[in-house]
Amino acid sequence: MLRFAPSPTGDMHIGNLRVAIFNHILSKQLDEELLIRIEDTDKKRNIEGKDKEILEMLTLFSINFKRVAYQSENIKYHTQMAMKLLLDKKAFNCFCTADALEMDRDKSKEEKKPYRYSGFCEDISDEAKFNCNAPFVVRLKKPEKNIKFKDLVKGEFEYKPFDVDSFVILREDKTPTYNFACSIDDMLFDISTVVRGEDQLPNTPKQIHIRESLGYDREINYIHLPIILNFETGKKMSKRDNSSSVKWLIQEGYLPAAIANYLILIGYNPPVEVFTLEECMEWFDIDKVSKSVAKFDITKLKYLNREHIKMMDELRLSKILGYADADLGTLGKIYIEECDTIKEIKSKLTAMFSTKDTLEGFEEEYKLLKQCMLDAPYIADFNNLKEYITQQTNLQDKKLIIPLRYALTGATNGPNLSEIYPLIKNYLGEIIK
Ligand code: GLU
Repeated sequence: MLRFAPSPTGDMHIGNLRVAIFNHILSKQLDEELLIRIEDTDKKRNIEGKDKEILEMLTLFSINFKRVAYQSENIKYHTQMAMKLLLDKKAFNCFCTADALEMDRDKSKEEKKPYRYSGFCEDISDEAKFNCNAPFVVRLKKPEKNIKFKDLVKGEFEYKPFDVDSFVILREDKTPTYNFACSIDDMLFDISTVVRGEDQLPNTPKQIHIRESLGYDREINYIHLPIILNFETGKKMSKRDNSSSVKWLIQEGYLPAAIANYLILIGYNPPVEVFTLEECMEWFDIDKVSKSVAKFDITKLKYLNREHIKMMDELRLSKILGYADADLGTLGKIYIEECDTIKEIKSKLTAMFSTKDTLEGFEEEYKLLKQCMLDAPYIADFNNLKEYITQQTNLQDKKLIIPLRYALTGATNGPNLSEIYPLIKNYLGEIIK
């Protein structure tokens, strides 16, 4: 089984979506189930409703899942596992106060050494512990030998016991820490492959050490995906970059198919540039994912968005634009010439169907033309329409074309009217107003 393990602490980040997509592709290719595990144990950071939003987002991207698990429901197992580690003397109660730990940290800083736990409580006798009423956390003893693992994208890693350290697995309130809950859950759900962001890499030796301490010997395959950088600044895409939020991209009118295409394309060298998620199942090979960081280039995403809009069924596009007629989907595609997103195309159609009272610089001509069109019979052909208006009003050339374009589209420039007119001729009653 594979798992996608989002924390419900904010809008879904494109990096997380990329992880979800890669998990989805691999689960299909390996023919293994994909579990969605909501990592909700950090109660202070959880935001109500974000779990549902993440699940809706996954559905929007056609990432299907059968099972959703909430990490908080497993706390009883996390506690039991911590008890086992205590009984086996692989973990110990640590009574060190926050102040004492802070002093140790300051000392390490002064000495310019990385901070590590002093080991002070590691050898306290059971009797002393029994007599001590002070609050305590539970720490896992650092490993006795190096922790090694192979990442399928990034290669071999080896961490010394000193790097792993004796770290906290249960907090003072006896809730599990992130690494402990995550590691136990990967074990309980019999996870075979973990795909996640490379920001999680330092946690991996700790999580392996937890499972090894419990005697769990199934090796988990790890894949840590490179982080995504802001194209301009070259820094990690932060929550402040609007385009790092999947919700923002959707609201701006980027199609899920185009976003998915883009997130697979960066850091991969695919046989074709424009593809669907289903198509990529055929050739996608996780071993070929680039090790290096990926840069988020919105211009490229815009290009892919236009390509996916072009590929879309006209009726479906029309529905996405808020209508239910394939002709309006075709019209939307004509606007691709000057629009990158669904939102931009929508605004063109909104302008078209809005009330247009007057046109600056052509007030008289527009008034005349609008009245003429309101009184006109149904005319199917665009050239015949122009001829009819000229006959009735004497308007010609610029004085005809500019007010006519405005009356038909709500704009003074845009794609060829002769292409647009056949698609909107049945809507003149709603357009000329
Ligand atoms: N919950 C972590 C996150 O949202 C992911 C942890 C993992 O995949 O192991 O970043």
